[in-house]
Amino acid sequence: MKTYHIVTIGCQMNKSDSERLAAVLEKQGYKKTGDKYQADLVVINTCGVRQSAEDRAYGLIPRIKKENFKAKIILTGCLVGRVDVKCRLKEYVNVWLPIGQMTNDKFPMTKIPPTPFVKGEKCDDYLKIKPKYNSKFSAFVPIGNGCNNFCSYCVVPYARGREVWRPAKDIINEVKCLVKRRYKEIILIAQNVNSYKSQIPPNPPLSRGEIDFADLLKMVNNIKGNFHIKFATSHPKDMSDKLIKTMADCSKVLKEIHLPAQSGDNQVLKKMNRKYTVGHYKKIIKKIRRLMPRVLISTDIIVGFPGETRKQFNNTVKLFKEIKFNQAFIARYSPRPGTAAYKLKDDVTPTEKQKRWLELNSLINYDQK
Ligand code: SAH
Ligand code: SF4
Repeated sequence: MKTYHIVTIGCQMNKSDSERLAAVLEKQGYKKTGDKYQADLVVINTCGVRQSAEDRAYGLIPRIKKENFKAKIILTGCLVGRVDVKCRLKEYVNVWLPIGQMTNDKFPMTKIPPTPFVKGEKCDDYLKIKPKYNSKFSAFVPIGNGCNNFCSYCVVPYARGREVWRPAKDIINEVKCLVKRRYKEIILIAQNVNSYKSQIPPNPPLSRGEIDFADLLKMVNNIKGNFHIKFATSHPKDMSDKLIKTMADCSKVLKEIHLPAQSGDNQVLKKMNRKYTVGHYKKIIKKIRRLMPRVLISTDIIVGFPGETRKQFNNTVKLFKEIKFNQAFIARYSPRPGTAAYKLKDDVTPTEKQKRWLELNSLINYDQK
């Protein structure tokens, strides 16, 4: 029997995509192996959010090919459409697979498509594939794919295409199945869960018309069973009062929220094209804490965005001291080809980025230190 091994780099969405990849491969008769140096087929599910993630793929792929020269290498994920990546890795990779082209019974093995997303192409069909969940307790359930926001530093809208949302009934059915199988944790995922909209009417007795993320959350919460719900990631610009109230009211929804601020300075936020101000962000946090006093709040921050002065960075420090995040993922700015910020000079030195990174990290859970 032929064997496969999947290496997943990157976010929860990639992890979830790998679960669908595994399901399709097993349907085709492949058997999972834990050893990438023995497998007949090695899938590398790549991430392009930062150079460091890209470099992992560049290091790994030649090494696998050297140790396991008979392996067929499939590259998928966020690097699949990049021409420069193709040039760099073409001698090692056998198949370039845009994840959106995978279907329940089709794993394109020979095709080498030119680009991942043709304009207007739908990229949500592959979300219908029933995944082979990695855990027996906790499951990622994607509610959509892609992003329309074009934050100036970010490659996701280029790598994953525009937003597409799964019909609410598909999501509900997937969760019902999981609950029946005694899953205890459901994690609803998308690049921006709270931009969710579904025009597909759900099953009765729910009303017809458009459903937003708050409605969806309520629907998932109403599913009978002993489980809890998490969701990520939320964008501050779409954090409505309705959603905050729904989160507070839904007993199965854990009182924790990941709300990336990215910066604590209005000018930087504007240059990042984040579409909110620090004042707006703080207001949301206040509302969340008013309705859920014990809520856990986490965030993402980028330090050393082009032109970020010490003064502007200090505004992020101020935000940290004010909000007292329970957790924060601090990234050092990494220029991404093709993005708007790529045209700006990456003028904060690596040493300064490191200093700012350390400083913010020392402020996580500020209250408890
Ligand atoms: N949709 C989410 C984030 C997705 S990318 C949101 O809007 O917040 C995950 C994280 O990677 C981002 O929150 C950001 O902090 C970081 N990131 C994205 N592009 C980056 C870049 N070019 N350099 C450094 N960090 C980056
Ligand atoms: Fe990237 Fe911004 Fe979209 Fe998040 S909202 S995925 S940071 S473009």
